[in-house]
Amino acid sequence: MPIHTAAALPSIRAAAGQLDHLSWSGITTYNQCPKRFNFRYLEAAPEERKSAALIFGGAFHRAAEAVFQARLEGRALPDLNTLMATYTTAWKEEADQAPEIVYAKGDDEMTLADLAGRMIAAFVEHAHQEAVANPQRRILALEHADRFRLLPETPPLEARLDVLELDGECLLVTEIKTSKSRWNDQKVAEALPQLVVYAHALLPLLRDVGAKRIRPTFLIVTKAKKPVVQVIEPLASQRDVLRLREQVADVWKGVRAGVFPAREGWWCGACPFRTSCQGR
Ligand code: SF4
Repeated sequence: MPIHTAAALPSIRAAAGQLDHLSWSGITTYNQCPKRFNFRYLEAAPEERKSAALIFGGAFHRAAEAVFQARLEGRALPDLNTLMATYTTAWKEEADQAPEIVYAKGDDEMTLADLAGRMIAAFVEHAHQEAVANPQRRILALEHADRFRLLPETPPLEARLDVLELDGECLLVTEIKTSKSRWNDQKVAEALPQLVVYAHALLPLLRDVGAKRIRPTFLIVTKAKKPVVQVIEPLASQRDVLRLREQVADVWKGVRAGVFPAREGWWCGACPFRTSCQGR
């Protein structure tokens, strides 16, 4: 359902033409709400608010990254106080820039900081166990970004990989997630295309590092009273690759045609462009 007039289409096409890449996050944004995609990626509209969950996820990521950074540099893992300081600094940096922060019911800055402390403790314990169980693993890169062309007619896809490790003949790519609950099979299936994107992005690197296989992995830390760390290594099939191609092609077709309908749902509550959306 196109929502733009014929007169507006040339400028939309011009804006779409300026997109030099697509990302998995952009594809999921379009699939959830095309209008939000337009605000974020084509109009580059300023954010009116930010979800606390998003700021929390980013700050937790920074603490987790500090653990991997220590391993990369051959240092002892940072203690919990140091990691909490990393979390707090990252939280503050993002929160200070947000015009408004949207908290879920029952949450505030303090309850989230408590939760972060428990999750970081669980994550560090997991990191210690992993180091003992797999001493041969070598970290190659953190926050590695790569672009590749999945389809000739679409812009390249950008993959941002949290952790890249070499383990014998395997190139391990780990995506760190936080989640309200443990992931089940359905959740893994939904997130699988993201790992397919990563596997594609890493193909040229395989030879360079002398590896023969890519092992994409989700590392999930639950936001619970007693957080658990789940490590899942799903297997992607040819069908998953085809599904990803279809998804990317469909999104790009919609973007090029200026199809940006509002798709309302629970996600509108924390939408950074809600006021602008309601005003149009
Ligand atoms: S408020 Fe809802 S419908 Fe409007 S852009 Fe945001 S997510 Fe889409």
